[in-house]
This record gives sequence, structure tokens and C-alpha cells, in this order.
Amino acid sequence: MHTPDWVAQGQPHIWLPYAQMKTATPPLPVVRSHGSRLELADGRSLIDGVASWWTACHGYNHPHIAQAVRAQLDVMPHVMFGGLTHEPALTLARRLAALLGPGLDRVFYTDSGSVAVEVAMKMALQYWLNQGERGRGRFLAFKGGYHGDTFGTMAVCDPEEGMHSLFRGMLTEHDIVALPRDEAGEVELDAFLERRGPQLAGILVEPLVQGAGGMLMHDPEVLRRLRRLADRHGLLLIYDEIFTGFGRTGTMFAYEQAGARPDIITLSKALTGGTLPLAATVASNRVFDAFWSDDPSHALMHGPTFMGNALACAAANASLDLFEREPRLDQARAICAALEQGLAPCRELPWVRDVRVLGAIGAVELDGIADREALKRRLVEAGVWVRPFGNVVYLTPALTIAADELAVLTGAVSDVLRRQRP
Ligand code: PMP
Repeated sequence: MHTPDWVAQGQPHIWLPYAQMKTATPPLPVVRSHGSRLELADGRSLIDGVASWWTACHGYNHPHIAQAVRAQLDVMPHVMFGGLTHEPALTLARRLAALLGPGLDRVFYTDSGSVAVEVAMKMALQYWLNQGERGRGRFLAFKGGYHGDTFGTMAVCDPEEGMHSLFRGMLTEHDIVALPRDEAGEVELDAFLERRGPQLAGILVEPLVQGAGGMLMHDPEVLRRLRRLADRHGLLLIYDEIFTGFGRTGTMFAYEQAGARPDIITLSKALTGGTLPLAATVASNRVFDAFWSDDPSHALMHGPTFMGNALACAAANASLDLFEREPRLDQARAICAALEQGLAPCRELPWVRDVRVLGAIGAVELDGIADREALKRRLVEAGVWVRPFGNVVYLTPALTIAADELAVLTGAVSDVLRRQRP
């Protein structure tokens, strides 16, 4: 097996994400992707169970997206969005607003999920300031939540899983509480908000699934509770659908399953079908109206260099075409049934604490993982790309994955977990 020179020569210069560089297993060099496949430099081919952090919803290299990006590249790859605009960005904004339904009408583009959440938080904070209300500098967010790695978003992540202890004193303090999973939880949160409400700008939640926090799932009723509480205490409700958006939970957006709408929503990841970085923070008219003023200081002061990138917007428009033309949501539902069936044997294993499935998300929670590198290695040896986090081995494949490939994924996870305690 041949390792290309660029690996040996480049490796000493790269700093990898979420990795102790001294001890981490070197990353696998990928030379080509297609469908649900990753081709490695040494000739091996893996079936991808992660879809590149849940982005590649149509599989890799979908020709329709590739063609749209190529065509846009010839016309105009990028122009600054300050003072200029273009067709791909405005068409995408119109289409997102139509998909999200009445009220969620104003799209602000950024280039990553974390920044989209930062913008949502900034919108919520300034919503109050523009109305002359000071002292609402905090957010209510939830244990198990994950919203990004920037300083603003780290502060609203789960305090245990996130980096709160490492950066103590350097992060803004927010209120991170348990999700109101039952009526008693709602009563408790209501009492908390009775006291704390006047200091809060809004409530921030990942609807139905707290993704990077461990694929923790909750009932749609939780969102209806949060909507009621937000209304009762006059707070903005922000949904972070960066993970759950675009079919991952079986509906286009997770919140549709609850029928409880947000005041602000953040989107990214599968927005471009996993091809180019793009994110959007979409605000309701209620929020936007607080910025609509003759006073220049009431403007939203934000504008990333690459916001509204034309290539990324063209990719996103092509991705939305595919959702219109191809049966992605039916595919997500079929994946759900296959994950239920394929991961069922894991339920019998003494070291498995829980198996959870929702839409095209399957998670096996273990008591613990003693040797993470060995577990990853065994999964690769079984021909699949699966990257556990925390105590959770999860599958979030492309929505287009073939039934036999999905069977290989669930079979590999079940077999590897059965053969020995990880
Ligand atoms: N919010 C959620 C729900 C996410 O899953 C992620 C990424 N895993 C983010 C925010 C941050 O997105 P990014 O990594 O693009 O900054």
C-alpha cells in the first residue's frame, strides 16, 4: 500500500480538530468521495456513516450540485455582500423563507454554524437594546446542548461537556438548565423564569436532538413547553437547527414535528448539501421590526467577509432543488426503520446503555469507551467510517445511502460492539 508524499510532508504542519496531537491516531488520507463512499489513499474504500458531520445529505459529489457550483464559478465566485447583492443569495433567501413559512422572513448569511449562532445571540441581545430595555444579557440554554466552539457559543454549551471549566472566568455566564421533559419540569422552569426572566434575552435550544452533546433526543412536547414559557415570560425562542435541519429528523426542519415555531432559527451543515461552508440565521418579523428604524445605531452590526458567498449560495439552491425533486424525507424515514432494525442487536449487549433512533440518526450509548482509538480502528477494519464521541457510537449517513450500504454500517457497528467491550 502506497502512502503519498503529501501525507508525510504535510502532516508535521497540520493542527487537527479535537485532537491531542501527541497521541492521536493520524487522520486517514482521503483521495476521493462519491455517494456514501470515502476512497483512501492506500486504496481502501469505506462506507461513510457520518456524512462529514451530517452535512452530505445527498451523498458526496451529487452531479446537480457540482454542475451548479461549476456554472457559478464561471460567472462570479464571490463578491462582497456589503452594498452589493446577487441572484444566488436573494433566490436562496426567498426559498428559505418560503420553506420556513410565514413570519421567518429575514435571512442573514454567515459562513459557519458557530457564527450563525453568534449572530442569533447578537440579534436577540440587540432586539431588547433597540427597544430601550437594558439588563437582558443572559440566555437560557440546556444541559447536553452544543452550539459551537467560538467564545459566545461555548458559553451556551453544556457546562460539563463544553469547555466552561477550562475557560472559567473568560466565558459569559448564562443559565444552563435541564430541558423541561415533563410537566413538573415546565412548572420548575416557569418558576425559575419568574425570577430570572427579566435578565434574559432568549431561550436557545436544539430542537428534538441535542446532536454533538450525545444525540440526546426529546419529545416534541418539550418544544411546545418552551414556546409557552417563552411567550409567558416575553422571551425570544431560538432554534439551533444546524444539525437537525434539512431532513435529518425525518421532516425538513425538526420543529415541524412540534408545531411550535421559533423567533430565530440557525441553519448550516446540510444547507449546501455538505459542499461549501454557508450558514444562515433567519429572523422573524417580530425580531426584524426591532431593527427597522431611522436610528443608525439600531442596525445589526455584523458582516463576515464571505457572507452570502455566491458559490455556496448556488450550491444551497441546487441542494434545495434536490429536496424538491427527490424523495429525501421518505428516504430519511426508510433509514429510520433500517437503523431501528439494524442496531436492535446492540440493545442486548451488557455494555450498551441505550439505543436511540430518530429520523436518519442512530445512536448507541455505551457505559464507557475504554480504548477509543482501538474502537475506531476496528470500525475502519470493518470497512466503515464511524467516529464515536463521548460514550456514543452514532450513525448519521447520507439520506441517499443505499439499503445494502446501510446494512453494512449497522452490521459493522453491531459486530464490533458485540465482539468485545469497547
Ligand atoms: N450548532 C449545532 C447544533 C451544531 O451541531 C454545530 C456543529 N456541530 C454548530 C452549532 C457549530 O457549527 P460549526 O461547526 O459550523 O461552527
